[in-house]
Amino acid sequence: MPLSAAAEPPPRGVRALAQPAHVPLTHPVVFHEDFAINPVPDGHRFPMPKDVLLHRRLTDLGLARRTFTPEYPQADTLCLAHTPEYVEQFLSGSISQQAMRQIGLAWSPELRQRTLIGVGSAVLAARLALQFGCAVMCNGGTHHAHPGHGSGWCIFNDLAVAARSVQRDTGLERCLFVDLDVHQGDGTAAIFHGDRSVFTLSIHCADQTFPHRLQHSDMDVALPSGTTDEQYMQTLRMVLPKLLASVRPQLVLYNAGVDVHAEDSLGLMHLTNDGILERDRFVFEACGAAGAPVAAAIGGGYQQDHTHIVERHVLLHRAAAEYFPQLSAACSLAGRAAAVAAAEGPVTMH
Ligand SMILES: [Zn+2]
Repeated sequence: MPLSAAAEPPPRGVRALAQPAHVPLTHPVVFHEDFAINPVPDGHRFPMPKDVLLHRRLTDLGLARRTFTPEYPQADTLCLAHTPEYVEQFLSGSISQQAMRQIGLAWSPELRQRTLIGVGSAVLAARLALQFGCAVMCNGGTHHAHPGHGSGWCIFNDLAVAARSVQRDTGLERCLFVDLDVHQGDGTAAIFHGDRSVFTLSIHCADQTFPHRLQHSDMDVALPSGTTDEQYMQTLRMVLPKLLASVRPQLVLYNAGVDVHAEDSLGLMHLTNDGILERDRFVFEACGAAGAPVAAAIGGGYQQDHTHIVERHVLLHRAAAEYFPQLSAACSLAGRAAAVAAAEGPVTMH
């Protein structure tokens, strides 16, 4: 009945909605059913269920029409950003309790599975971004993971592995990390220290107590606690376009942490939902103008009521959907798509 009902005239007094000639293509979304694996106890400060809730919400909003399913990465792919010893210890479960305490999670086969599919999601997002101009994850942004150890709920550095994997597979010469989580991207800075093919930008709050010891990104911008939407955007507008012009990245890895929000339980900045949306729009707009494809992770976001966090992460997908036409047009260089296709075969949608 619903199908034929659409063809019937609307009841008297009800205006018919204009039907679009076609459903416009939206941005590629990366999601795996295994994100439902929840290896942390209920009430844990790390909001593990938010990834599944986010994809459900995106589906309801019509923003997940192009969902792609990632694969589990091989150990040698993880070793592109991490030491073989650390990778082996975590995968085998022989990692020390002390190392797991530094991560803040207890080792379990479920945690291993959840961690691996999280990295696979970033690897696929990077490939999709090269193919389509932009791809956005429903998880990720594990930027506190260092080459030889994890930290701050981060085990493997998903976007770092993703950048190195597409460099390996396509020969990309210039990548740019745009890390706008409220915490410094210390693990990412450590992994790419001295790597001239990857530029790391971290704009974070100067007053966070974590990470305990900061690293040197290629560019660190530390903003004070209480930073407002206007102050934040002023900085971002000053920094990002210039950096895109000088680095000329062939791929941008974007950590869109929403722990910059005023009500975040860990972050000390004072951004609003409007400010976060403006930030995410600006990143996509600037990257599109620079012809740089974007692979985006949702990053941090902490609050006991997960529905609030999910609504903040939706903003990244809304911005991606809005700017997808520009990114897609600006980044449709045949060479990039051909490079990806040659390396691993075309990406297909599931
Ligand atoms: Zn954070």
